[in-house]
Amino acid sequence: MNIILLGPPGAGKGTQAKKLVDERGMVQLSTGDMLREARSSGTEMGKKVAEVMDRGDLVTDEIVIGLIAEKLEAGAAGGFIFDGFPRTLAQADALGELLDKMGAPLDVVIELKVDDETLVQRVVNRAKEAEAAGQPVRADDNAEAMKTRLMAYYKQTSPLIGYYHAKGDLRSVDGMAAMDQVAASIADILNG
Ligand code: AMP
Repeated sequence: MNIILLGPPGAGKGTQAKKLVDERGMVQLSTGDMLREARSSGTEMGKKVAEVMDRGDLVTDEIVIGLIAEKLEAGAAGGFIFDGFPRTLAQADALGELLDKMGAPLDVVIELKVDDETLVQRVVNRAKEAEAAGQPVRADDNAEAMKTRLMAYYKQTSPLIGYYHAKGDLRSVDGMAAMDQVAASIADILNG
């Protein structure tokens, strides 16, 4: 199965994707993780996107589509989980074309719904917890960058909800529920 986890920053996409990797042997493709990796390894592309990411804006479609296209080539027996991609309509179209070329289906798009106040609280807590644990704190996990990240979500990414709804691919889950409850709702959808 190939699935998209769609939702605003802090909705729990990464957490749920990791559970699916552990439980179903799916492959998580997180463009956020790929971009952070490029930054920490100091590649030219990593340097180019650093400022945009820290601010909370989206990096260019060209860069993220390139990253995804590269990873798709390897294939995944258990299927792919697209986490944080696509984030624009152009990315959604590109993904559709890439999957078509591979003869692979997009099985379902799962939207995680969480209200804004909770999202801000979650990322601020994530930063506090990382700091307390002596782990690196994401430069965009603060209230200021969250304003930009949420604006980017509503302006550029939320139109995908209508897009996938119209295609008949969208399912929505209450992302405010406890983590295990969210996982159970996702499992229900995947088990059809
Ligand atoms: P995430 O880890 O998914 O929250 O992504 C962190 C940051 O990476 C975002 O705020 C963007 O700056 C960038 N990013 C990740 N995925 C994408 C994408 N699909 N399109 C554009 N920018 C992205």
